[in-house]
Amino acid sequence: TTLDNWERSDKYHNSFLLLPDAALEAAAKRNDEQGLPDVAVSPAQGKFLNLLAQSIGAKKILEVGTLGGYSSIWMAKALPHDGTLVTLEISEKHAQVAKESIAAAGLANKISVILGPAIDSLHTLYPNPEPFDLVFIDADKQSNTAYFVEAKRLVRKGGIIIVDNAVQYGRVADPNCSDERAEGVGDLLRALKDDEDVEATTIGTAGEKGYDGFLQCETEVKVLVIRY
Ligand code: SAM
Repeated sequence: TTLDNWERSDKYHNSFLLLPDAALEAAAKRNDEQGLPDVAVSPAQGKFLNLLAQSIGAKKILEVGTLGGYSSIWMAKALPHDGTLVTLEISEKHAQVAKESIAAAGLANKISVILGPAIDSLHTLYPNPEPFDLVFIDADKQSNTAYFVEAKRLVRKGGIIIVDNAVQYGRVADPNCSDERAEGVGDLLRALKDDEDVEATTIGTAGEKGYDGFLQCETEVKVLVIRY
């Protein structure tokens, strides 16, 4: 089937490009053993987030939607020794599993898991003294726009906001599809169309997690023109 083909392709590429990593494999196993839903990013997507964080020299990362900490660990591995990652999760069970995997990965000193509705937790965060460099939005999709507004408030100029599940097997673009997960992306796309501070693009991804996509937004670096 198509999914088997995408999965084989992902695994083939990963066999050249991704090294085995005991902490990440243990986190994926713990998610599974604890019965968490199979909705973590794929290894290739995790590595993409890791490389992105490295390429912008991220020191502060924010994640909305922790699940079992799999993507948190991928991103935190890109942080310098004094870097930090804050991740927001509504489910006590998911947060607990995440804390265990994060501790086992030796990253408890870098990653804080904040339990509660993400929108409330976001309101307690401030861009001062240091704004965030990278925000990964991956929670309840109907709240994408609300999270994006908060992410923009918290991220530095030139910082990056990634929104997962932007394609959803093409459902987001399907006029006959009106479920709230798809609508949550549509609302955000409409907001981005009118947003002059942000440049964005969607990159579709097909792999072991099916056909989906990352929406990548870059907050514009405003150039101040000084006239004499
Ligand atoms: N980023 C994770 C990864 O790749 O390993 C996957 C996150 S999973 C797709 C979405 C998570 O968002 C779930 O754990 C869910 O409990 C959480 N979530 C859903 N609604 C939320 C809300 N209102 N506030 C915070 N977290 C929420």
